[in-house]
Amino acid sequence: MILQPLSYAHILAIADVWRDIGGNTKVEIGALEPLLWRDGQYRITDVVRALAERDLVVSMTTNGQLLDIFAKELGRSGLSLIRTSWHTTNPLMFKEISGGHGEYGRFKRGVTMALESGIKVAFNRVLIKGHTEDLPEQLEFIEQYKSRLKLLMFLWTPQNASLHESFYQDWRPLVRASILPRTHEIVRVRKLVGRDRLRFVLAGGGCVEVKLGDRLKRNLHPCATCSMKHECKEGFGDYVRVDPNLHLYFCYLRQELGFPISEYFGRPQALKQRLQDVLGDANVEDLLSTTSLRLTVTPTCNFACRIPGTSQGWCMERREEYRYPHIRTSLFGKV
Ligand code: SF4
Repeated sequence: MILQPLSYAHILAIADVWRDIGGNTKVEIGALEPLLWRDGQYRITDVVRALAERDLVVSMTTNGQLLDIFAKELGRSGLSLIRTSWHTTNPLMFKEISGGHGEYGRFKRGVTMALESGIKVAFNRVLIKGHTEDLPEQLEFIEQYKSRLKLLMFLWTPQNASLHESFYQDWRPLVRASILPRTHEIVRVRKLVGRDRLRFVLAGGGCVEVKLGDRLKRNLHPCATCSMKHECKEGFGDYVRVDPNLHLYFCYLRQELGFPISEYFGRPQALKQRLQDVLGDANVEDLLSTTSLRLTVTPTCNFACRIPGTSQGWCMERREEYRYPHIRTSLFGKV
């Protein structure tokens, strides 16, 4: 069964109960593709405006394909930050990764409009072995707009286990070759919950970040007893996510550890207790103070992202109840 988007009323109810338990003021409107979200006469810009009016700091994760339509109004609505994937500067590779649906020129136009509308834009790049020669070109753009580029490792999941070794690219040699020569300062960003980060502040402006996967905390419940703790690259509680089914959860691989948040609308103390029960020994106040709330407002996407040269989807959100366009024939064949 395909899920329906979160309703406007439910989004505000989630935000209200999160605020009432003292949750972090950072709220992320996340993937799938939030610019496709609608509820009657409401558009995603109305959601941003309503959340910002509650003194929440609203950011959005989008693939950027429709930003040329929405950028100016998002700027006026109070959006503080856009997070978008930018895995390559090669237009053919961009189309390939998007499953044949992405237009690179339109993407660049949209993110440039957002930047020029006063919205900060942070870029996420999954490093793909053999496809990183364009990193210097990307860094020039990052410096020009004083943006942030986060380098992500190809995440292991049970579904992509057979391809993982072929595509996994460690960040260290790339940082040594392309980023350190442009770096003015290195800062360690410490997190109470989730992983620490290394931030390379670029001499020309902007920065590059990597998450430190070797310091994942696995000594506390539920990670201590999790059968996937050696493969999983996620920090438990990096985000608190709510999906279109109103299911709240903490990590992609163990969604069964979550629960329906709708049971707690208007009951902030009960929600706080439920979070503490899931966390066990960890302190719920630490989670609330450092962890963003991430809302998957729609189960629909206009991209069908895949590992290049394969038909293997790589969207971490991909689930049976979500709706994606068909993956088009690969431009490259096997790589
Ligand atoms: S899958 Fe979740 S519970 Fe298991 S180790 Fe990873 S973050 Fe922890």
